[in-house]
Parts: sequence; C-alpha cells; structure tokens
Amino acid sequence: MRVGIGYDSHRFESGRPLVLGGVHLPDHPGLKGHSDGDAVAHALIDALRGASALGDIGQHFPDTDPRWQGADSMALLAATVRVIEERNYQVVNADVTIVTESPRISPWVPEMAERIAELLRIAGSCISIKGKTNEGMGWIGRGEGLAAMAVVLLDQIGDIDTLHASIRTGG
Ligand code: MG
Repeated sequence: MRVGIGYDSHRFESGRPLVLGGVHLPDHPGLKGHSDGDAVAHALIDALRGASALGDIGQHFPDTDPRWQGADSMALLAATVRVIEERNYQVVNADVTIVTESPRISPWVPEMAERIAELLRIAGSCISIKGKTNEGMGWIGRGEGLAAMAVVLLDQIGDIDTLHASIRTGG
C-alpha cells in the first residue's frame, strides 16, 4: 500500500468556465491556468504521482508546453492513471477537499465523484469530495482563488520482481 498527497491552487479569472473534477460549475468565474485550471484534477494527479514516487505534474505536463494549452485536465488525470497502472498500482480510494468561499461545492459532489471514479476505475463509494470555506481568511477568504487537496491510496498488484521489471522496461 502506498499513500500520496496532492495540493493545487488557482486564481479566479472571469470569462473562463469553472471546471472542477471534470464538472462545469456554471455562473462563476473560472480558474486561470495554462490548462483548464481544474485544481481538483491537478491535486489528484500529484497525489497519484506522489504515491508512486513518479515526480509531479509540472515535470510531466509543464505549463510551458503548448501541448497542454487549454488541456482537459481529466484527460491528463486519465493518462496519469494509465502510468501508475503500468507500474502495477491500482487506486484503492481518494479523498479530496476543495477550499473556496464560492461557489458551494456540495451540489456538484455526486457528479464530480462519478467522473473521478470512472477515471480512477474504482467505485463511486471509494471517492470522497468535501467542500469548505476558509472562514473569510486570507486570499481564499477574499475570493481571489481556490485550493484543492487530495490524498490517494494505491495498492500494488503482483510480486515485486514483476513490478521492478515493468519499471526497468518503462512499462
Ligand atoms: Mg494546477
């Protein structure tokens, strides 16, 4: 079993759609970013990479690379899941916290959990998403942006020799 943590934050920018966990939350400024700014997807990517000690999102999807301009972050998350599966890991569960003064997250939790569960290839009951405010404090409290945190647990399938062989051959 391996555990990983991920954190991401983005500034709000009007005129962009707000996308979190692959779900469009209407009538709210979106998140500024090279990609679609989906902080939930980004935190999950870093948690998966953290658990498998495979670097971080910036190394694999650098924001200087035009390929990721406006990228669908859920596609980047799906690609990350494929990478960890190639190394014989499978996701056990994921726990996400979104910290923002607005919008309210709870109405969108079931849809986000469904999208994320599909990509992580686990049951929806293994995905937890929690929204909370920052009690008006600091940059989140002023509504300048939001932050997302994710913890994931991975289980290693197969024996260690198979795992090491797959790492050596890059797949
Ligand atoms: Mg990000």
